[in-house]
Amino acid sequence: MSTILDSEIKFLPGVGPRRAELLQKELGITTFRDMLYTFPFRYVDRSKFYSVREIDSTNTYIQLRGHVTSIQEVGAQRAKRLVATFTDGTGTIDLVFFKGIKWMQDKLKVGGEYIVFGKPSLFNHEYNLVHPEVDLATEEKLQQSTGHFLGVYNGTENLRSGGLGNKAIAKLQAALLAKVLPEIRETLPEYLLLQRRLCPLKFALQNIHFPQDIHSLAKAQERLKFEELFFLQLSMLKQKSIRMRGAAGAVFKRIGTAFNQTYNNIPFPLTGAQKRVLHEIRDDVGSGRQMNRLLQGDVGSGKTLVAILAAMMAVDNGYQACIMAPTEVLAVQHYNGVFKYLKDTGVEVALLTGNTKTAERRRIHAGLEDGSIHIIFGTHALIEDTVQFKNLGLAVIDEQHRFGVEQRARLWNKSDLAPHILVMTATPIPRTLAMTLYGDLDVSVLDELPPGRKPIQTVHWTETQRGDLYRFMREQIALGRQIFIVYPLIKESEKMDYKNLIDGYVTITEEFPQPQYITAVVHGKQKPEDKAFDMELFVKGKANILVATSVIEVGVDVPNASVMVIESAERFGLSQLHQLRGRVGRGADKSYCILMTDYKMSDDARKRIDMMCQTNDGFELAEADMRMRGPGDFEGTRQSGLAIDLHIADLAKDSPVLELARSTAAAILEADPLLEAPQNAILVTGLKNLKIETKDFSNIS
Ligand code: ADP
Ligand code: MG
Repeated sequence: MSTILDSEIKFLPGVGPRRAELLQKELGITTFRDMLYTFPFRYVDRSKFYSVREIDSTNTYIQLRGHVTSIQEVGAQRAKRLVATFTDGTGTIDLVFFKGIKWMQDKLKVGGEYIVFGKPSLFNHEYNLVHPEVDLATEEKLQQSTGHFLGVYNGTENLRSGGLGNKAIAKLQAALLAKVLPEIRETLPEYLLLQRRLCPLKFALQNIHFPQDIHSLAKAQERLKFEELFFLQLSMLKQKSIRMRGAAGAVFKRIGTAFNQTYNNIPFPLTGAQKRVLHEIRDDVGSGRQMNRLLQGDVGSGKTLVAILAAMMAVDNGYQACIMAPTEVLAVQHYNGVFKYLKDTGVEVALLTGNTKTAERRRIHAGLEDGSIHIIFGTHALIEDTVQFKNLGLAVIDEQHRFGVEQRARLWNKSDLAPHILVMTATPIPRTLAMTLYGDLDVSVLDELPPGRKPIQTVHWTETQRGDLYRFMREQIALGRQIFIVYPLIKESEKMDYKNLIDGYVTITEEFPQPQYITAVVHGKQKPEDKAFDMELFVKGKANILVATSVIEVGVDVPNASVMVIESAERFGLSQLHQLRGRVGRGADKSYCILMTDYKMSDDARKRIDMMCQTNDGFELAEADMRMRGPGDFEGTRQSGLAIDLHIADLAKDSPVLELARSTAAAILEADPLLEAPQNAILVTGLKNLKIETKDFSNIS
């Protein structure tokens, strides 16, 4: 049913075709609804002077009027800051400056009266203002400082030069609200509003754009965040409950020779976590329902073995399995690695990638169709339509975030029964994000590393220490260790990045000349044969050093490599750095990760590097990463291809709201699984309007 909200934005008075195009291009706004749900990203509250005692949230920019009582410099070097204590008679608050310290020192005088304007932040349970605007409280300033409480919308240079600055946008929003507000229907059931003390939708939309006061704004935000997360959770939990009762899956009841013999061939005991996860998988695949499981495990936690044993469960029950990797290197590694476990199992395996020769490819296609190949390893080549199975029972997808949703969905059409799906990722996902991205999946966690792993020592060195780096590398090579050197490769700067890599490679071959040292190099511009050759040199231990792009980020397993040097480390994200570091520390030797950066770098980069030096825990880093970059940029969100487009909720900050939304949705579905009760009809409508493709969620895997 289409409503006024579906009207094209050009029909809003004051917009017209030219501005409509601009809004579309710059902000992705095409309809009234898009516009209405484009909320201010911050607020400026100059409606009044707040008192220090009154501050109770970090929501908004506010202004205070009072005196500075003391000024002092604290901390040293990077932590150096200027702290001015400020009071208005109701309480005191610190004004903190990390930058422009000299300038502030000149400007601020103890005893002076000031108007300060900024956004309170919480630090050690106390509010303070970091880098507030500060003005001497002159008559003129005092007059300017009263009157308005404004939303600030995301703007761009193009918007401004096209006459759509913040004021103009606010004016359009006002016109839009006047037009559509009477037509807005409540989207949450009455009982829910009462139960959760949420404000009505109309009130929320009005106040999110034009807050009456700070409390109305908080109410509006609370309601809209809840609603957004609630419908997502409701959608996913409903999918999940349908799946739990619906989608039949192949039943793997038997445990036979394939599994048992493979198990016996493994030269070490499984970790407790591996055993637990295998039990979880076994329960799923024996249940008659289709499994959709996400396996999270830090690098080196032994996911591959779990995948292989799960595949053996399929084989023991007359089904085939496929194990899909994001890169050729990894697929080859999985494939080569499996043979040591296959002795006396009678299991036939094959490898299919983009580089498989035609004759071999034909043989494999035939083998998959007649069932004589039991387990197929490979890359994206596996999902091509020409690949057909006799009876695919399990699909394992390694390093899931490299695969788009669509690609995953194509696996489905390969057999009558939807195969069981095991998605494995070494990018730990913070709980809130997992609940949002994968809310309908069952999640297993390999939270234990195989015994004997020594923690990796991570250090940060700059260019001036390059000599030390080479010295250290020589020592390590003399001890028989191997070394990775990784260069960033980013699309936008691809040319430069390749140049840096090649220059780096040349320097290394000069510093570490043959025949004493052998250096291999692997990157995307090489011929596949060359790449395979150099990779092999390193994997077999014939090369001491491997210079590579981040291709080796995922999965490559060389236990003898004990040093990971990351060049231009400031250009990598936290999870990526962690992934790379995980390539070492797999053998018995003490391992090192050396982060090389310029002396100068941004604050954010420095934070990332510091975090890396402080912890080896992938989950801790993932949480930190999400806090620093926000979930939108968080690794895995975008690549996962899942369209979560949150307007207002922030997964990094709103986890209490998310938990509440999830438990509320679960309780409603518990009582009314198909949402058939009359009071829930409104929720069915809400789900239909949900912008996400719920299809994606159910198919993910
Ligand atoms: P990841 O989870 O990063 O994919 P892998 O599956 O590549 O990790 O395993 C890393 C290394 O640990 C491999 O060399 C593998 O043989 C080894 N490994 C796996 N499980 C165990 C175990 N239970 N005990 C000892 N080593 C193990
Ligand atoms: Mg792996």
